Amino acid sequence: MNRRDALRLLAALVAGGTASLSLAAPRVLAVRAWPGKTSTRITIESDSELRFFVSSLAYPNRTVVDLSDVQADAAFQKALETLKNDTGVLLRARIGQYRPDTARLVLELKSAAETAAFALPPVGQYRHRLVIDLMPTDADDPIATFLSKLAEREATLERAAAEVATPALPATPEPIKPVVPPPIVAVIPTPPKIAVRPPLASNVKPFVVVLDPGHGGEDPGAIGPAGTYEKDVVLAIARQTKALLEQDNRVIVFMTREEDVFVPLGERVRKARSVNADVFVSIHADAFTRPDARGSSVFTLSERGASSAAAKWIADKENQSDLIGGVRLMGRDPMLAKMILEMSQSITNAESLKLGRGMIGELKPVNKMHKNAVEQAGFAVLRSPDVPSILIETAFISNPEEELKLASASHQLKLARAIRGGVRKFLATQQMRT
Ligand SMILES: [Zn+2]
Repeated sequence: MNRRDALRLLAALVAGGTASLSLAAPRVLAVRAWPGKTSTRITIESDSELRFFVSSLAYPNRTVVDLSDVQADAAFQKALETLKNDTGVLLRARIGQYRPDTARLVLELKSAAETAAFALPPVGQYRHRLVIDLMPTDADDPIATFLSKLAEREATLERAAAEVATPALPATPEPIKPVVPPPIVAVIPTPPKIAVRPPLASNVKPFVVVLDPGHGGEDPGAIGPAGTYEKDVVLAIARQTKALLEQDNRVIVFMTREEDVFVPLGERVRKARSVNADVFVSIHADAFTRPDARGSSVFTLSERGASSAAAKWIADKENQSDLIGGVRLMGRDPMLAKMILEMSQSITNAESLKLGRGMIGELKPVNKMHKNAVEQAGFAVLRSPDVPSILIETAFISNPEEELKLASASHQLKLARAIRGGVRKFLATQQMRT
């Protein structure tokens, strides 16, 4: 090996870890499209990790994906044939050999779209995947839509509160209708009385509950012995819970995913924070190697998870402009920022525990508990420093009996009722936001 080869190897080591070291070039196994309401996802599955470069072009709109060490061969062409054209924002896809060592995938789009790309490690039946999200620039932003719905709900509650607070005014007497002939001088209408706005009841802002159905899309979650997917069951339960919770107009629910789409963990937390969540409930269905493992479990963030989350939070520049428990950390002394964060986290943890205990009380009559106490773990979705958060493992989908129950609509409804009960019990202890 000469010096140049050695340097190249070193560069590969630094840049790409082990994937770049593998002698065999990655092979593309499948290309799939997942159309969604706000974005269309293209997944490229391969036998080893892909190195990629994504760019966008206009006139006509297209996204270009360059894949290093990949050949635009017959196998890739065949994989591309399974990709449904005219799906979501995707019009059609084609490949070519851009450079001897680089294959180029061109995604022709129906309209302009922003592009995001990330890699997913193998899980379940899937191998390495490169995920490309195409988000049409004219699509509705679900968070903006939710925030306007929230503002509408607030206005409704405010009006209702004002009506209760204002005694009914005596009816204004009907103005006397002029008789023929009409008067020559126009009657100057009495100016409307300026109503003194009654002091509003402080409880006018609805509670924002974020439900987080686990997994989705390329990530099926746990799979039951009869083939039931965790991602489908938890989405169904979350939908029912949302409908039940929103029967109370003081509660409004945001879901981190409403469709069969994969949402990265950090993104779930980010979404919950951008809608100002009061409560965060992640919904899952467990799996264990022993098929007789059964029962529901409720988790909050462990102390270790919390302290590593705090360290990460401070390290992540993106979070610094965030408000933590109403305090902006940006520009503060790092020690002080850390202290604020830890204080907020410890208050939040106590609240999460209260939420978790109440939830166990509600779940117990529906499904035997796996453990009777709230358990602690370092789950990434529980890492908001100022939103009480729990993760519910509704049951063991790996247990044939529980799988059957989880797949039934009536049992899903029972679980949804229990989750609503737990959330409401917790909200009842909270001050309405003002
Ligand atoms: Zn899960």
